[in-house]
Amino acid sequence: MPSALETLVKILKLEREQGCKDSAVIGGLASFGEKWASDAHAQARKPEHHLLVDELLSIMRNYTTLESKGERLKTVSYMLDRIVGRVPPPPEYQVKDAPPTELPPVEAPKPPAAVEARPPAVPRPEPPRQEKPERSELMARPPQRDRPKRDQPPRPQQPQARPAPVAEVDDEDRDLPVVDEVLGEREASYDSYDAPARPRGDRGRHATEPDIKPLPRLARPPRRPRPQLSPDEAMDILRGLSQPVTVVKGVGPGMAKLLERLGVYTVNDLLLLLPRRHDDYTSQVMISRVVPGQTYTIIGTVIHTDVRAGKNGRKDFFLVLDDGSARMRVTFFGQHYLSRQVRVGQQLVLRGETGIFGNQIQMTNPEWEHLDAENLHTNRIVPVYPLTEGLSARALRKLMRKTVEYWADRLPDYVPEATLERADLADLGWTLKNLHFPEGWDHLDHARNRYIFDQLLLLQLAVLKNRREWQSVPGQPIFVSDEFLQSFIEAVFPYPLTGAQIRAIDDIRRDVGRAIPMNRLLQGDVGSGKTAVAMVALGMALANGKQAALMVPTSILAEQHYQNISAALDNMPGDRRPVVALLTSAISETERESIYRGMADGSIDVVIGTHALIQPGVEFKDLAVAIIDEQHRFGVEQRGALRGKGSNPHLLVMTATPIPRTLALTMYADLDLTIIDEMPPGRIPIKTRVVEPVQRERVWQFVEAELDKGRQAFVVHPLVEASDKIEAPAAVEAYERLKQVFFRYKVGLLHGRMRPAEKEQVMADFATNKFHVLVTTSVAEVGVNIPNASVMVIEGANRFGLAQLHQFRGRVGRGEHPSYCLLLTDTASDEARERLHALEETNDGFRLAEMDWKLRGAGDLVGLRQSGSSRLQLAQEMTPQLVELAQREARTIYEEDADLSQPQHHLLAQRVAMLHNDSADVS
Ligand code: ADP
Ligand code: MG
Repeated sequence: MPSALETLVKILKLEREQGCKDSAVIGGLASFGEKWASDAHAQARKPEHHLLVDELLSIMRNYTTLESKGERLKTVSYMLDRIVGRVPPPPEYQVKDAPPTELPPVEAPKPPAAVEARPPAVPRPEPPRQEKPERSELMARPPQRDRPKRDQPPRPQQPQARPAPVAEVDDEDRDLPVVDEVLGEREASYDSYDAPARPRGDRGRHATEPDIKPLPRLARPPRRPRPQLSPDEAMDILRGLSQPVTVVKGVGPGMAKLLERLGVYTVNDLLLLLPRRHDDYTSQVMISRVVPGQTYTIIGTVIHTDVRAGKNGRKDFFLVLDDGSARMRVTFFGQHYLSRQVRVGQQLVLRGETGIFGNQIQMTNPEWEHLDAENLHTNRIVPVYPLTEGLSARALRKLMRKTVEYWADRLPDYVPEATLERADLADLGWTLKNLHFPEGWDHLDHARNRYIFDQLLLLQLAVLKNRREWQSVPGQPIFVSDEFLQSFIEAVFPYPLTGAQIRAIDDIRRDVGRAIPMNRLLQGDVGSGKTAVAMVALGMALANGKQAALMVPTSILAEQHYQNISAALDNMPGDRRPVVALLTSAISETERESIYRGMADGSIDVVIGTHALIQPGVEFKDLAVAIIDEQHRFGVEQRGALRGKGSNPHLLVMTATPIPRTLALTMYADLDLTIIDEMPPGRIPIKTRVVEPVQRERVWQFVEAELDKGRQAFVVHPLVEASDKIEAPAAVEAYERLKQVFFRYKVGLLHGRMRPAEKEQVMADFATNKFHVLVTTSVAEVGVNIPNASVMVIEGANRFGLAQLHQFRGRVGRGEHPSYCLLLTDTASDEARERLHALEETNDGFRLAEMDWKLRGAGDLVGLRQSGSSRLQLAQEMTPQLVELAQREARTIYEEDADLSQPQHHLLAQRVAMLHNDSADVS
């Protein structure tokens, strides 16, 4: 694709040839100019380029009004001359320093310092032209992503070598001798246009000029031949990964302490301390081109700093950054200490969202670092690592570079060659290098694919290994007769079970009948009736004269289950009513002692409780069935601990978290999966509406009308990245506001910074209607039944995954009342709202989870974040294809060599074992 300027040169020449009849392009130069200008602006890299484009556009706009052919001819020639830089720009199109009125008074910039701080002069290589889609892609990048999504069209091929654009002009326009001179340097196209107007040495006084080659492309992941290592050598090197990080050259005890704060203890941890994102130094944006509300990387020179008094005695650090195109104000709230680190004349890289202050562009609290000029020319895609105080970006980057270089060339690849061949994945060393210091975006993609694949493959192999070990110890088969099942169900439930519930019960019955202990995951949407299935499983143990236990994450949920289940089991057929006990940390010492005794001597049949169930000292006489509700709230150790309370009891874990099936099969490869995909009949679907922020008042009116009917309401205030630090104040603020809005009613507050006992109290009070509106963060307890609550208002809904919103929504609609979920957005983006409309259309959590996965990657899937698999890195980049690939390969390997004892699997076995050791979170 020719550059915009090349195109224009051709058109102007054609126009001249055709006698200046404005016939060179259909519709004339004026209308062509509009479209052309937007392309040209997108390709422009310097302020003077933009000015040139503006100038040419204004000339084209007037072209039709020129009456004589002579005038037109003159104009066309002038434009060509301007393009090749034969004439200087008129004064109004010359680059000027930003007028002082644009900004609050600042110190006069100090040119000498600024000039010194510039990166070394660049040997002006190839044109750095970015094609338009790339630039606009960059501008459109959502704040938290540092690169386009996988399903977006691939980046346009960047021209490797293109003919110098002006050469063509030179061919024919022998009357333009200046071109020769200009052509001596490659940047003829753009840079030289105003060259005569600006002495060369003065160019871009503050500007940074990252004029570098386009990034390389890479269609296929490379697989280099493996180093020739003896099995023992390879094993040794692999083991070396588990050494403490201090074995790395340059990491002393002090550095090790800092790294520890980033979760890095071993060499392996260090190698896998992945960048939070990569910044593309080749495509940073000029300040003059930025628009508010977007995230940008900007490089410029500090021309002013000061510390200003902010609100409440806060001291803010303020600076003005100049990149040669314009200036930008930057404020760091409360970070006055930065005045010791940032000085006038230094060059900074900033990344953050732009805003507007007055009518000026500004950034507040951007991420920043000192420009490492070398980065501009060497690794142009720069890794940005998580940092901790005392560890600079530059120091960490240097350490990573050394470490990665050293290990990437030594590390033996533990994934069998045949697997990589089948899956078409890159080799390990290359992957490691490109995960950190990618040569191009394609490279990063290939590296991430391989890395995600590895994690999934290892996870799955580890999980399968677990399962083998756990199933090698026999359990106790339980016999469940048809008659028992039928009479139990009839006696205990006032309603017929759904088909899905019956299928789940069948699965469980089959499992417990075998000597291999059951290990089943029951997944079912909120309200799908998992408790009933659990009750039948408890009953199966009771019918065999054995004990059963149910563990849940909170006391209030334990209490609720205890009420329901003990009442239901009272109706159980048989000679003796089962004794059901409640065990939480809330009960008294003496009560606890007596429950402990009852569990140990068998006089208690069923225990329902919290973590209190797995404390030391808790013993069962004969635990046969153990059930965990809301299993994602428990760690794997806790699952294991409950299992350890009996002699290999049958285990049923339940979750309402919808995870797409493929993913669930990987995450929980050691669990058999039953999905309840049918809701009990008669459930009134929750009416869901996406509401514009301007309609907030109407939302409150609607809520009030429900309160008037005697109902209750939730107002959820979840913010990005569930962080109590940010969430709690937002909820507190909302709480204060809503107390005034609903002054006729009582409003309660629940957030993650409250003590567990406080939280429990709030939930208990809400459940008993002691107050009517509950303002809460995303920590609000799941699973608790508040049948009287009929409205769920969610603020900032656009920031959440659909499946998570669906979970919030599931807290209403649990009673007989019609219920509503109102989603308030805090964005103007149509795309975000579009996504939310899916919630209006479906009540199917699994479908929503699938959509999340397709739309936003696996990072949004609640279960992933909450379950043990939170250790999965790059989860947001995980695609269904990769998961299926890893699953297929894991199964192939497992079927071929289940205990990984064949020679080609030795390293893999070693790697899986490492995963076992340093992660308790497997499965
Ligand atoms: P969850 O799967 O979210 O744990 P619950 O077990 O709490 O769901 O069930 C939600 C509600 O549905 C309960 O009030 C329960 O009594 C009711 N329920 C369960 N199964 C059925 C059924 N087959 N028919 C009618 N109502 C049912
Ligand atoms: Mg439940």
